[in-house]
Amino acid sequence: MAGEPQDDCLFCKIVGGHVPATIVRETDTTVAFRDINPQAPTHILIIPKAHHADAAALATAEPLLAADVLREAQAVADEEKLESYRIVFNTGTGAGQTVFHAHAHLLGGRGMQWPPG
Ligand code: AMP
Ligand code: ZN
Repeated sequence: MAGEPQDDCLFCKIVGGHVPATIVRETDTTVAFRDINPQAPTHILIIPKAHHADAAALATAEPLLAADVLREAQAVADEEKLESYRIVFNTGTGAGQTVFHAHAHLLGGRGMQWPPG
């Protein structure tokens, strides 16, 4: 069921403390932790604690967890003292999504190109 922990989900395991992660912030509804394979000097993932497969599902989740994730992404950006940064939700395999528990990538600390690859 949407929102319930999934036994086979890596990020649900991080939320549950069953897989270690470098957690930088946590709220009642979100966790932010460092990406294991950073693509920028700062690369932090912000996830809802509730399991939703992707940003499309998160967008319609009740309560509106998408707002919590975005608020936390900004809080992490502030803590990391990032003035310029990128927030990315890869959605679907064609866009590079590999973990099907919704997550925002917060990337910063280097210059970035547009359009992304
Ligand atoms: P995506 O490809 O958009 O689904 O992003 C998944 C991200 O999760 C990738 O950037 C991975 O490097 C990251 N990742 C995978 N396993 C872990 C882990 N155990 N701890 C932290 N980040 C992870
Ligand atoms: Zn999950």
